[in-house]
Amino acid sequence: MSENSSDRLIYRIACSDSESSSQPLALSDASPKDKPWDKHRAFADRVQTHYAGSDFSDYARRLNFCSQLLEFGFGMDADDALKLKLKSARFCRVRHCPVCQWRRSLAWKAKAYQVLPKIVEQYPKHRWLFVTLTQRNMPVTELRDTLKAMNEAFQRLVQRKTWPAIGWLRSTEVTRGKDGNAHPHFHCLLMVPSSYFSHGYISKSEWIKTWRECMRLDYSPVLDVQAVKSGNQPSSLVPELLKYCTKESDMVADREWFLELTRQLHKMRCIATGGVLKEYLKELEQDPDELIGKDEDDQGVNEGSLYFNWRRQEKRYRMVKD
Ligand SMILES: [Zn+2]
Repeated sequence: MSENSSDRLIYRIACSDSESSSQPLALSDASPKDKPWDKHRAFADRVQTHYAGSDFSDYARRLNFCSQLLEFGFGMDADDALKLKLKSARFCRVRHCPVCQWRRSLAWKAKAYQVLPKIVEQYPKHRWLFVTLTQRNMPVTELRDTLKAMNEAFQRLVQRKTWPAIGWLRSTEVTRGKDGNAHPHFHCLLMVPSSYFSHGYISKSEWIKTWRECMRLDYSPVLDVQAVKSGNQPSSLVPELLKYCTKESDMVADREWFLELTRQLHKMRCIATGGVLKEYLKELEQDPDELIGKDEDDQGVNEGSLYFNWRRQEKRYRMVKD
């Protein structure tokens, strides 16, 4: 991490730039790990188009400036190789901005990866369950009422005598069915005492019966329960738990559906925590302050910056020449 190695990266970037004809260096070529920027910013352009001329034209304006210019500095990774490291960018923080949603998910995941091992250390004998709670698909216009009903049902579930968890984390995901209906579901991480498997164990059919009663449904809902193997870390569930609230491909599939989704999800919280997990993970209930991100292995080589701007036509970030 000497000044020399930074110089070498600058040299490499300068060389590849001059070799590749008149086009400035693409971010995805300079730094393969930053390739997702192109994908998410391209989706942001499509979401922006959906919002333009709608009730949400202010969102369109904000999405338009989101992450147009990225400033990178230099850092070293764990293998002592040079890498680009995001230093600054302007984010719009619109709820359904694909770039901001991605950055938010990264921040949440980083937090969970940092905290979950500490909880396991505190509660080494406890076990972890991953439960997915659903109900039938419905028109997107009924999503808000359905999510409120699901929230209330979840409260009833937690208050039941048979509720086995001493702590839980819950995230909400909404997908779009092929028929255009909305499919909301809860992904739940439950921390249960080790005695759960011998005393108070709940079979899948009992979970279904209980959720059906809490939801006050006249049919048996689809539900999934998995236990994390004894001795395994719950961190393996983080990618599934803290991914997007709505997939980018579902956001752009149909403009009217997406605008209605925006109305229906207005100010609805995506993540909830409870029990002993609340004190560790309640930060996840808020929009993260920091969307820049910080790598665990950052060693802070900070001299110099490279700038990349978004080329909307080409769907790539390219270096900005001085
Ligand atoms: Zn944004």
